[in-house]
Amino acid sequence: MAIAGTPSTTMRQLPVSLASRHVAVIGAGAAGLVTARELRREGFSVVVFEQGDQVGGTWVYTSRVESDPLGLGPIRATVHSSLYRSLRTNLPRECMGFRDYPFVSRDDPDRDPRRFPGHREVLMYLKDFAREFGIAELVRLETEVLHVGLVEDSKWKVISRKSGSDEAGVDEIFDAVVVCNGHFTEPRVAEIPGVNKWPGKQIHSHNYRVPEPFQDQIVVLIGSSASGADISREIAAVAKEVHIAARTFVDGTLGKQAGYDNLWLHPMIESVCEDGTVYFLDGSFILADAILHCTGYKYDFPFLETDGYVTVDDNRVGPLYKHIFPPVLAPWLSFVGLPCKVIPFRMFELQSKWIAGVLSNRLMLPSQQEMMEDVEAFYSSLEVSGTPKRYTHNLVDYQFEYNDWLASQCGCPGDEEWRKEMFYSCVKNLFARPESYRDEWEDHHLLLQAHEDFVEYTSNGVSNRCLPQ
Ligand code: FAD
Repeated sequence: MAIAGTPSTTMRQLPVSLASRHVAVIGAGAAGLVTARELRREGFSVVVFEQGDQVGGTWVYTSRVESDPLGLGPIRATVHSSLYRSLRTNLPRECMGFRDYPFVSRDDPDRDPRRFPGHREVLMYLKDFAREFGIAELVRLETEVLHVGLVEDSKWKVISRKSGSDEAGVDEIFDAVVVCNGHFTEPRVAEIPGVNKWPGKQIHSHNYRVPEPFQDQIVVLIGSSASGADISREIAAVAKEVHIAARTFVDGTLGKQAGYDNLWLHPMIESVCEDGTVYFLDGSFILADAILHCTGYKYDFPFLETDGYVTVDDNRVGPLYKHIFPPVLAPWLSFVGLPCKVIPFRMFELQSKWIAGVLSNRLMLPSQQEMMEDVEAFYSSLEVSGTPKRYTHNLVDYQFEYNDWLASQCGCPGDEEWRKEMFYSCVKNLFARPESYRDEWEDHHLLLQAHEDFVEYTSNGVSNRCLPQ
């Protein structure tokens, strides 16, 4: 895919009638599965391309890691999932599930009944979802998409081949493509002065699975994300010392952490030296064995060729109307799942309902020019508020407004009040009890409301309220 660059000035003539029937979905993670369901409900013929050997995307845990622990080598064999072995969800299952297919615990000894379950339970839930809605049969497993590009008549050529093979790809033509390839695979690492000569081990959390390799070591972990918090605590149980460095830490929170004799918080790293020393911005320093980058990921669409109509610039994928449609190529190309710092599955459900409705002409998009103006106004508002470009898709402060807007476009119910309140109460609980928030909580009244709704959704067909008429 082109990075930045100037779009060609030729505007494509887009089909105006309801001609689009054959839709390709790239990826069979949570986003691809729910997108396939919505497209099929609308009556499209759908092919889901999935490079892995099962559905579930990120939630397919593997102990395999990449040959380059930092995950930077451009021709390395990529491992898709970034999960570590001990991972439990950081959202309660009631919030996490699709609205019309609640993520409730199953009465089955093989399943994990916890409110914040382990990763395998999420995978099982997604597989149940795929089975329940007959999505599995639409998925071509072990089929890697090599190229998605425009051809004449505004159709899309998709070239795919058996994953891992050297076969020449197979070409197919689709009316529309929905990109659901996930964005937690391509590591972003911190830039550290002197790091090229620093003799220690470096690894990105994408390639972190278990703590044992850090036994008795002095580890500097960069980042204050949910994964960073989990991993630092896990490593502290075996390492000699763990030092967490982050831009977001403020005075007063720095220093040795209560409850641990080997865990410290620091400001960001200032530089590192050939003798193994790591210097922090406040002048403190330590001699470390390893740096673990928990510094997030980059959007990456190596297969996508749009003649410059969609670019990735400093982690902004754009221009995209409402993080979904590139105005010039709408509605025939769309993206599900780009926003981050959200409750993902529920948002995917709404994004894909909107896409399916628009593709079938049941729902209308504004004109290309109006969409472009909307995107430009959005970018200007980010600039005015001093939001860096790389946070374009960070919806932390307005995910529920965004979901409600999508729901209003689709004529569907928006998010339930309990879901919103539960999300905020979970975040509050996480800050109050970072180590035990997954097992201790106080929002029992919200749990009750959620389960009342689940009974209603699953007993009287409320889930069908949003089916096309
Ligand atoms: P993915 O799950 O990544 O799926 C994308 C799919 O596309 C993959 O199956 C991949 O193989 C396929 N693909 C990619 N490129 C190609 C290609 N060229 N050809 C064919 N197939 C391709 N969310 C929560 O709700 N709760 C949590 O507690 C939570 N914890 C998380 C913890 C970690 C460490 C991470 C990394 C993420 C976490 N998430 C959590 C977010 C999680 O990513 C989303 O919940 C969701 O699973 C993303 O789904 P997706 O379909 O967008 O992407």
